Amino acid sequence: MDLFTDRLKELSGDVCFDEPMRKHTTFQAGGPAKVFVTPQTASELASVIRLCREFEKPYFILGNGSNLLVSDEGYEGVVIHVGRAFEDVRVEGSRILAGAGATLSKTAAAARDASLSGLEFASGIPGTVGGALVMNAGAYGGEMAQVVRGVRVLTKDGEEKRLEASELEMGYRKSCILPRGYIVTEAEFLLSRGDKEEIRSRMEELAARRKEKQPLEYASAGSTFKRPEGYFAGKLIMDAGLRGFSVGNACVSEKHCGFVVNRGGASASDILEVCRQVRERVFRKFGVPLELEMRLLGKFEPPFGA
Ligand SMILES: Cc1cc2nc3c(=O)[nH]c(=O)nc-3n(C[C@H](O)[C@H](O)[C@H](O)COP(=O)(O)OP(=O)(O)OC[C@H]3O[C@@H](n4cnc5c(N)ncnc54)[C@H](O)[C@@H]3O)c2cc1C
Repeated sequence: MDLFTDRLKELSGDVCFDEPMRKHTTFQAGGPAKVFVTPQTASELASVIRLCREFEKPYFILGNGSNLLVSDEGYEGVVIHVGRAFEDVRVEGSRILAGAGATLSKTAAAARDASLSGLEFASGIPGTVGGALVMNAGAYGGEMAQVVRGVRVLTKDGEEKRLEASELEMGYRKSCILPRGYIVTEAEFLLSRGDKEEIRSRMEELAARRKEKQPLEYASAGSTFKRPEGYFAGKLIMDAGLRGFSVGNACVSEKHCGFVVNRGGASASDILEVCRQVRERVFRKFGVPLELEMRLLGKFEPPFGA
């Protein structure tokens, strides 16, 4: 053990090594994280960040791993899991205060139970509040930017800070959180009063639409590509004749061409090879460049890797 791991273990009781990331991503693929730590409080999280910076160790913040592909070689740095300890959800009047590790389904359910409307769109997105704010997650006409009022973050130096919604620079599947190196610890949502039964039925309707249209029976990271302006990625992929196109056990979903899925045991390199070929063929046929929506962690070959 080196000095870094000794110090890390003094800070946190939940540290493990060579942790398989397929256990922590909805794609169920990818190699191990050299170090995997799950802080139990915001101050422990801040201390872990400071320690990583002191020892110049690369680190990565993990939510539910539902927008993430980890390379087969894994990640040589420290994966910091913002999980259970951050999943508290409180209702105060028309506001919801949710920990960054709370799932969107839990947060949306708390809103529904309090007859608060605005988060129905998010109830079927399988991510955490933190991960959803990073990429301004959205569905069925809703997005985080419409309901978030402010967030508590830790800066790169481990300092606590509150950011108002207007400071988050939210756009289509982006915000300033990742580029600025902020770590979300809590979010405040401002919702409107609604009818509990109407909220419930809207959530059920959206869940049924997801089940009908999306390949939820397979492991994936949701929509693999961002929506190119003026087009739908899934339609371009289908029109390029790529429905079901596969490499190993990774393939373009038959049900929804916007999803690349793991049919079981696919490697990260198979998954990315499907993405590479899809991108190349769609560009050749329609001249439209597709950009990955999911995040990559670890070493990948160009054009996706460094
Ligand atoms: C079946 C399926 C359906 C999906 N449907 C949708 C959809 O309808 N709409 C949609 O927008 N997305 C969808 N997604 C994608 C995904 O669920 C969302 O992007 C979700 O918001 C990711 O959250 P996460 O906690 O899983 O983030 P992760 O995948 O763990 O991380 C994603 C990024 O956020 C960063 N991050 C995570 N937590 C924090 C934090 N606390 N502070 C700072 N950075 C953090 C990570 O470092 C990483 O860069 C779907 C995915 C699946 C598998």
